[in-house]
Amino acid sequence: MKQTIKDLLQIPIQNQEVSVKGWVRNERDSGEVAFIVMNDGSTPKTLQIVVDFNKIPREQVAPIKVGACLHVKGKLVASAGKGQDREVLAESIEIYGLANPNEYPFQPKKHSLEFVRENAHLRSRTATFGAVFRIRHTLAYAIHKYFNDNGFYYVHSPIITASDAEGAGEMFQVTTLPLQNIPKNEQGEVDFKQDFFGRSTNLTVSGQLEAELMALGLGKVYTFGPTFRAENSNTTRHLAEFWMIEPEMAFYELQDNMDLAEDFVKYVIGYALEHCAEDLDILEKRLLDEEKSKKQEERSPMPLLEKLKFVTQNPFERLTYTEAIEILLASPYHKKKKFQFEVKWGIDLQSEHERYLVEKHFQKPVILTNYPKEIKAFYMKQNEDGKTVRAMDVLFPGIGEIIGGSQREENYEKLKNRMEELGISTQELWWYLDTRKFGTAPHSGFGLGFERLVQFVTGMGNIRDVIPFPRYPKGAEF
Ligand code: ATP
Ligand code: MG
Ligand code: MG
Ligand code: MG
Repeated sequence: MKQTIKDLLQIPIQNQEVSVKGWVRNERDSGEVAFIVMNDGSTPKTLQIVVDFNKIPREQVAPIKVGACLHVKGKLVASAGKGQDREVLAESIEIYGLANPNEYPFQPKKHSLEFVRENAHLRSRTATFGAVFRIRHTLAYAIHKYFNDNGFYYVHSPIITASDAEGAGEMFQVTTLPLQNIPKNEQGEVDFKQDFFGRSTNLTVSGQLEAELMALGLGKVYTFGPTFRAENSNTTRHLAEFWMIEPEMAFYELQDNMDLAEDFVKYVIGYALEHCAEDLDILEKRLLDEEKSKKQEERSPMPLLEKLKFVTQNPFERLTYTEAIEILLASPYHKKKKFQFEVKWGIDLQSEHERYLVEKHFQKPVILTNYPKEIKAFYMKQNEDGKTVRAMDVLFPGIGEIIGGSQREENYEKLKNRMEELGISTQELWWYLDTRKFGTAPHSGFGLGFERLVQFVTGMGNIRDVIPFPRYPKGAEF
């Protein structure tokens, strides 16, 4: 295996010949020598290259500026300079690609996130986004590890589907035209590229219904894949394409579902704390810098690392939707009319309400249960009161809703009636109803928005900054 900068930073220093490939983060000509600081993405750290002009002529080094890509061969030696224990004395430099400093957007100075977003195609080269994407990777790995270690099977739910799992009508159509309007080829056949073989289909909004089919046979399963919502996602919490983790478990009731959600989230955040310390450090410093320019009351009460540790070490608050409404009604925010949206039993909680509960009232993550059935999806198990369903939402500080889940309605008649009440086609979802007709079982599951988790762990304020290729109304260029 070829050595990366991460490897070179860990091996013993023995004046040995090494080869470094990577991008220039900084360079400085100090008269007799040049210092070139390189990073290759394998680590948040950089490696310093020292170029002696007696060995490599200055003219060869002069065009090497920030952003250039190099292959350096040289000796790994102890460094006398501050800030690093080692450096490479260059013996040869091959330039893979130069970067014109008048055009390359990322210079060593600090750039605003807005500026980086405008140059998103090159942002994997920056320290901040290197950290974000490495953490995203580690979280994804931790998620698979958690489920694997706990006896869950990874199942792959379809991207193209005929069902609207949420019944919320937020689907991107794969088929847009009525069959008779679809263009035909010379042989008179419909163009299957435009009609998906003559069927009305859409991009999935959730893999839940399919995951239920698998759980009611395999026991414990999870999906982890892209989902799509045709919503006007101009918020810092919504994307048109996002990744969702959806565990689904036979024989789990709401309580078990909550226990799993809490244990799972704590595990993956703990895993990132343990394995991404250097990347988290970079992000915490960036956030502390950013905080300085904010007003006192807008500042985060805890630095990033402390906040993550707090979440992994303290129990989440659990209460019902009805109790939450009572708290909101009794709050000084309600009395002083500081909420933009009205608070009363039956409303779908707005982000301002969720954040009040989490950030002001409890100051820790909260799990809300037993929501009014009118604001939740058709598949949730109905409570005896006839008004609420066994839903659970997990709310996080700075984010709001991070998980939505429920115990599922396992009773065939009740499920069918609810679908009919809501005008959801029982014919189209015959396969779903079949699971309740044959050997039905209590079962539960939830959906965690992966990007919201990454946002929480990295402290990034905008969801578009935690996915490599954000999709939103104006964002689908590459
Ligand atoms: P919200 O109330 O924030 O719009 P939701 O209730 O519509 O979310 P669910 O259908 O419950 O979302 O989906 C489960 C999880 O998926 C949510 O808790 C959230 O973490 C995530 N999620 C939902 N919509 C989006 C989106 N457009 N972009 C990113 N993540 C999302
Ligand atoms: Mg939504
Ligand atoms: Mg919601
Ligand atoms: Mg939800």
